[in-house]
Amino acid sequence: MCLRISRQLSLIGLTRRESKGRPQTFYEGGKRGVLHVDRTEPYCSAGRQVIMDASEQLGFAVKNGACYVCTEGPRFETPAEIRMFQRLGADLVGMTSIPEVVLARELGMCYASIGMVTNEAAGIAAHPLTHAEVMESMKELGVKVAQLIQATFELWTPSQNCLCASANREVGKF
Ligand SMILES: [Zn+2]
Repeated sequence: MCLRISRQLSLIGLTRRESKGRPQTFYEGGKRGVLHVDRTEPYCSAGRQVIMDASEQLGFAVKNGACYVCTEGPRFETPAEIRMFQRLGADLVGMTSIPEVVLARELGMCYASIGMVTNEAAGIAAHPLTHAEVMESMKELGVKVAQLIQATFELWTPSQNCLCASANREVGKF
């Protein structure tokens, strides 16, 4: 779902969680203890830069640094919820990426996310929202995303400069 734009790619830089029914951590106490993982830079900064370099190489327009709200779904949001998310600074709303982005950081993995903007949100779209519209947009954008991922991996090197691998240093796990 999109708050302002449709059928575009966005590179997500900030996240907000509105989902509550999913496991959120590998560290729920007990023998493993707890880990207060740093979320200052929620997504891998090096990975995001490589994706932007790849998008430039391919001539794709990718908005860098969108603020993403993850909802529980699978229903679409109401117009009132969309207005609330806008006031909180959201650019995009979706139903994935959280908790994956948090769990990846807990494991010290580099993780970045490309948002496929598939439709306008409730209260913004001039028509009722449908799953068919989302699927049609995903089909259209999917080819570009596959090219972008391929180009990203061609540019990626093991010596990227980021802090992801040190995120769980405190607990010494994984
Ligand atoms: Zn990283």
